[in-house]
Amino acid sequence: MALWNTGYLDDIRLEVQDGKTGKIVIFFVREKKLIRAITYKGLHSVEQSDILEAFQKQKVGLTMDSQYDPVVIKRAEVVIQQMLAAHGRQQPARRRAPRDLRGEAGGEAREFAVRIGPAGQAKHAFRAGDRVSGAAHPVADPERETAQLYKASALRLLARAEGEPPPGPPWHGVPPALEMYRARGHRRLDARTYEAKCRTCIWGCRMAVEMVIDQWKPEVREHRFETFCYGPKSCALYRAGPTRKVPGRKGMSWEEEDWVDEEATGHRGPDE
Ligand code: SF4
Repeated sequence: MALWNTGYLDDIRLEVQDGKTGKIVIFFVREKKLIRAITYKGLHSVEQSDILEAFQKQKVGLTMDSQYDPVVIKRAEVVIQQMLAAHGRQQPARRRAPRDLRGEAGGEAREFAVRIGPAGQAKHAFRAGDRVSGAAHPVADPERETAQLYKASALRLLARAEGEPPPGPPWHGVPPALEMYRARGHRRLDARTYEAKCRTCIWGCRMAVEMVIDQWKPEVREHRFETFCYGPKSCALYRAGPTRKVPGRKGMSWEEEDWVDEEATGHRGPDE
C-alpha cells in the first residue's frame, strides 16, 4: 500500500514464492510514464511562450518530467484550441473606430457612420455633440466595415459641442489616439448594451472581426461584427453578455471564455 501511495506507479502486483529458508516476496511494478519532451508542431498564430503562460495561468499542469496523465493532456489541448481560435481572429481596432453621425448624406437625412483617419481626428479633436461637415466615399465592402462611409476629406468643425462633456459613463470627451486603445486592451461588450448605452462612449466600439476558421487554411476567412469596451472595468453600465463562440473546422466551435478578456485587460486596475 505504501508503495502504491507514492503515486509513481501505474500497476503493482505481488507474488510470493517459497525459498530455501522462508518465503520470497516479489513486487512487479509498472512505473507511470514521464513526459520527456513537449513539442508544438504547426504552430503559426500563437507564440509558444504564450501557450506556456496560459498553461501556468490555468494550472494545466503539463510540464517536463511530470507524469503522463491523459486528463492533463486533454486540459492542455482545450487551452491550445481556445488560443488558436482566439488568435486566429484579427484583433479589432486596427483602425480608428467609425463615428456615428446624425445628419445628411447624399442629400438624405439619416444616421450613418464615417471612418475618420488619425490625422483628421488629431487636427479637429472631434467629440460627441460636435457639428461637422465633409466629404466621404461609400465603403468598398460593407460586410467588413462598420462604417458606411470612409476616406473622409474636407472635414470642417462647424460647431463645437456646448459645455464640458458630462461626467461618464458614457464618456463623451475627445477620444484618445489609437495607440491608447491598443495599450488598454478590450473586453467583449454585450451588443444590446452597446446599442442602448455605449454608442456615444469613447470607449465603446463595434468592429468587424476576421476569423480564421481552420488554422491549416489561414487564407479562408469569415467576418462578423462584434462589440467591445475599452473603458474602465468598474463602469456601472458594462455588461459582458454571453460568451462568444468562434466557429472552427469541421463544424466545431470554440468558446471564448472570460479569461480571454481578463488577460487582455489584466494590466489595468478597476478604475483605469
Ligand atoms: S461599458 Fe464601456 S463603452 Fe459602455 S459606457 Fe461603460 S466604459 Fe463606455
